[in-house]
Amino acid sequence: MDFSEEQIQRYARHILLQEVGGTGQAKLLGSKVLVVGAGGLGSPLLLYLAAAGVGTIGIVDDDVVDLSNLQRQIVHSTASIGKPKVESARATVAAVNPEIHFVAHNARITVDNALDLVSAYDLVADGSDNFPTRFLVNDTCFFAKKPLVSAAILRFDGQISTFKSFESGPCYRCLFREAPPEGVIPTCAEAGVLGALCGMVGSMQATEVLKELMGIGDSLSGWLMVCDALSATFRKIKLKPDPECPLCGDNPSITDLSAHAH
Ligand SMILES: [Zn+2]
Repeated sequence: MDFSEEQIQRYARHILLQEVGGTGQAKLLGSKVLVVGAGGLGSPLLLYLAAAGVGTIGIVDDDVVDLSNLQRQIVHSTASIGKPKVESARATVAAVNPEIHFVAHNARITVDNALDLVSAYDLVADGSDNFPTRFLVNDTCFFAKKPLVSAAILRFDGQISTFKSFESGPCYRCLFREAPPEGVIPTCAEAGVLGALCGMVGSMQATEVLKELMGIGDSLSGWLMVCDALSATFRKIKLKPDPECPLCGDNPSITDLSAHAH
């Protein structure tokens, strides 16, 4: 791939890295990533993926920007209150890196559109804020054979992992068999979340996405990274595939997305 003079300057600090170089940068420019949720995690994800030169970035979200989002959702601004999040994100991303092809899916990811959406991309980064979506995205990525970099945040705690259970390693259901009943685990809207923690975890998630796209370093597949911002503690926990997993186990009971239909 031939870089333009402007690209060589824009991505110079990447190209300097031996592990990235021109080859890695060309891979990023040729990659397509779907980000689920333009919120606290989606914000740093979108910003860093765009700045890094991930060629095609899709975002799926059906929400509009609210004043209470701005404490952490740094891809949006005060002037964007009331606008669709995907359009607000598009404007910010275009300002950072105009050469990115940005695809705004102003919709909620559901059983009806999930396979089509996910199939159009090389990798999915899930920054959604609810369990039904996380399970839907996990199952869809498994069936579509797409790597999934998944993260979640609440209060001062964050977690992140990569799932490639279609080739090896556990899936999200190996960790959490099914979504907890509604109301058991509070949402950020109910329990709060430290804004900067979203930046921390979302930036780690972006880092793992870039590593997966370039095929460098150690994958987080098979590991769960847990961080506690209050105690400034990071832990990396080994995960094993569960042979009893209803999705990726030996005798799967989930063979399509129909369980997600309501
Ligand atoms: Zn599994």
